[in-house]
Amino acid sequence: MNNVFQVNILLVDDRPENLLALEAILDSPDYRLVRAHSAEEALKCLLTDDFAVILLDVQMPGLNGFETAMLIKKRERSKYIPIIFLTAISKEDQYVFKGYSVGAVDYMFKPFHPDLLRSKVAVFADLYKKNQALLREREARAGVEAGHRYLSFLVDLSTLLASTLDYQATLEGVARFAVPRFADDCIIDMLEGESLRRAVVASADPARKEFIRTLQERYPPKPEAPYGAAKVLRTGVPEHYREVTDSLLKGLGHDDAFLKIVKQWGVKSAVVVPIAVRGRTLGTMTLLSAESGRVYSDEDLAITHELARRAAFAIDHARLYREAQEEIAERKRAEAALKESEARFRLMADEIQKKEDELRLITNALPVLISYVDAEQRYRFNNKAYEAWFGHLTDEVRGKTVREVLGEAAYKAIQPFIEAALKGERMSFERWVPYKEGGERYVSAAFIPHIGREEKVEGYIALFTDLTERKWAEEALKRKSIEAEEASRIKSEFVSNVSHELRTPLNAILGYTHLLLDDTYGPLKGDQKVPLQGVLRNAEDLVNLVNGVLDLSKIESGKLSVILEEVDLVSVVQDILSGMKPLFREKSLQVRLNKAKELPAIQSDREKIRQIVVNLLSNALKFTIEGEITITLRSLPERDGIEVGIKDTGIGIQQEELPKIFNAFHQVDATSTREFGGVGLGLAIVKELTGLLKGEIRVESNYGKGSTFTLFLPCR
Ligand code: ADP
Repeated sequence: MNNVFQVNILLVDDRPENLLALEAILDSPDYRLVRAHSAEEALKCLLTDDFAVILLDVQMPGLNGFETAMLIKKRERSKYIPIIFLTAISKEDQYVFKGYSVGAVDYMFKPFHPDLLRSKVAVFADLYKKNQALLREREARAGVEAGHRYLSFLVDLSTLLASTLDYQATLEGVARFAVPRFADDCIIDMLEGESLRRAVVASADPARKEFIRTLQERYPPKPEAPYGAAKVLRTGVPEHYREVTDSLLKGLGHDDAFLKIVKQWGVKSAVVVPIAVRGRTLGTMTLLSAESGRVYSDEDLAITHELARRAAFAIDHARLYREAQEEIAERKRAEAALKESEARFRLMADEIQKKEDELRLITNALPVLISYVDAEQRYRFNNKAYEAWFGHLTDEVRGKTVREVLGEAAYKAIQPFIEAALKGERMSFERWVPYKEGGERYVSAAFIPHIGREEKVEGYIALFTDLTERKWAEEALKRKSIEAEEASRIKSEFVSNVSHELRTPLNAILGYTHLLLDDTYGPLKGDQKVPLQGVLRNAEDLVNLVNGVLDLSKIESGKLSVILEEVDLVSVVQDILSGMKPLFREKSLQVRLNKAKELPAIQSDREKIRQIVVNLLSNALKFTIEGEITITLRSLPERDGIEVGIKDTGIGIQQEELPKIFNAFHQVDATSTREFGGVGLGLAIVKELTGLLKGEIRVESNYGKGSTFTLFLPCR
């Protein structure tokens, strides 16, 4: 086994006994003795191991010692190994010189003195050991120095990466860090979605930076390219191009122009490393050497890989930081929104409370009894009037069911209304209901469903109005009007009877007075006729009054019936006028009749029309001192009737009197000294009769100038 404390010593001799002898002399724990039986075997050993010294036999079949030494000295690996020639025969000086000339350090003759051999070998072994120690020390020093450089690189990089949490700034920092320390150009491509985005280009020469940009635009990297960033992105494994060759550039899959341009650029060596974190490749970093002539070594690749690894961490940190910041901002926004909505909600709640208070205030001020009951038939709100009437205070019954509160019997009475209302129907009733203080009261009730969202019935509002007083008043009124009707009927009957009974004696008075004035009972003296004529006039007035009262009471008692026949109004009016002619002539009044050419005959009651027209003409005659009376007859086809206008130039009627003159016994001037006769029944009879004939009577008057009464009669 190879022992680190042992030095290798190569023994070369074709005779095994000689080798054995050498071994015996040199046997020591400090040495590892390697035997070679021929020159070929020795050369083979020298390919794999280092030796402190070679003991080389000169006379050997095949290659002799000198030839072997020459080959040893030719080889880089073995040229400094000291060779001691051993020989039994070639003692001549020329051999000795030959030996030295091919690089021997010593020449020993057999049989040699063991101590001498041992001491010579020991010198070379020691020399070798010292040399080795020196080499190790130098290596160690170089290692420490490299370690220092690496450490300072890491410190610088860490400082750089810690200085920013911004993604782009981090990438730019890394690129600046790499150029010109490790590269002439540094390109960072980051994965965005599916494709690579050129994130940063840094160059020692600004012109080249621009050049790289244009190149990228003209030749965007192909994702399927077998080399470069695209490949690293696919595999996640670094690529190392000690030498950037033509075939490599061709492999990127662009045209010859591309090849030419890149050659001008003069890229010599390149490394491409993945920027990966947590097993995910985020992008690639490419370092290129051009004018600096740097050739990337394995160590460079390792450093670049480390650089990219740290950059990836920093980017990941930046991303996490950005996400955290966004999350914080988002949380702050959400908190603010929550606060705002809380405030809005509070405002709304206040508003609702205010509205509810207002509603309560209004409903409490209403005299109507109001109760709101929910879909489970539980009381929710009773207004003050309800509370007072039923004695069910909101605070005491809220949440209790109607059945619980009213008791089974009272609930049964209104159950159908409640159930219908909760099905969405509007219900109402009026009836006597038991009152809490005893007895019964008359109420009207309405059950109005409360239809909420999505047409769902959420409850009902019961409205009650206590109509007891009104009911009583109505009933009293009904009783009174029945009594009044009865009294009126009795009165009319009485008046009718009395009038009738008055007519008989009055007619006797009239008859006898006429006979007396006609001298039937002997001639009367001249002045005896005057008072008798007064008796006659008064008696006639009395007959008129009695007839009027009789007519009116007949009409009022409903005993007067309408007898329909075909009536020719013109002839009726002409007939009346001819009868009254002497009276007009007596007062020197002009009478004119205007009639339309074609007047239809009407279906009506001739006698009643006659009485109406006579009454109106009598008034016109009575209240006109001078001038004329005009009667106009015209057809009103649009109303299917005929109009009779009676216009006088008499005293006229004041406006405020107009509505009253159709009342029975009403006279505009009712003093005892009034100038005109009459009892105030004429127009009352006119109005009643017109009503019976389904006609209309109206009056217009110009006080002091005259009046016009207009009668409308329907054709049918
Ligand atoms: P009277 O028997 O008093 O005429 P009426 O009922 O016929 O009673 O008329 C009522 C009152 O209407 C009359 O007293 C009179 O004051 C007034 N009146 C009726 N017709 C006329 C008229 N054509 N011109 C003026 N006043 C009239």
